[in-house]
Amino acid sequence: MNCPKCSSKFEQISFGEIEVERCLGCQGLWFDMLEKEDLVKIAGSETIDIGDDQVGDEYDSLQDIRCPHCTVKMLPMVDKDQVHIKYESCPICYGTFFDAGEFRDLKEHTILERFTQMLGTLRTNF
Ligand SMILES: [Zn+2]
Ligand SMILES: [Zn+2]
Repeated sequence: MNCPKCSSKFEQISFGEIEVERCLGCQGLWFDMLEKEDLVKIAGSETIDIGDDQVGDEYDSLQDIRCPHCTVKMLPMVDKDQVHIKYESCPICYGTFFDAGEFRDLKEHTILERFTQMLGTLRTNF
């Protein structure tokens, strides 16, 4: 499988029981259906996103891409909680592509949110 953005090869990396694809060129991440949702809940999973934010930003503008599995045009998506995170999703296999740094960004927000919720719980308990 080749990267839909820079055409480099993907390498398979695993985190726990979840296997994801990371591009050897732009270091974008490919997640099969629901892998991202599972992975974002696991502590430390942001370490799979080793890419440079700047490289990620460059490739972020490239949205006219095709799914490496199905070859159909992928749909540009925006994260509902963090609208600056733009990713692409395949309408057939539901795979998603995240540019370098975007998964880290998504994850940071998730942790912060949990922390705020925790503080909220503490406050109501005291
Ligand atoms: Zn790439
Ligand atoms: Zn697909």
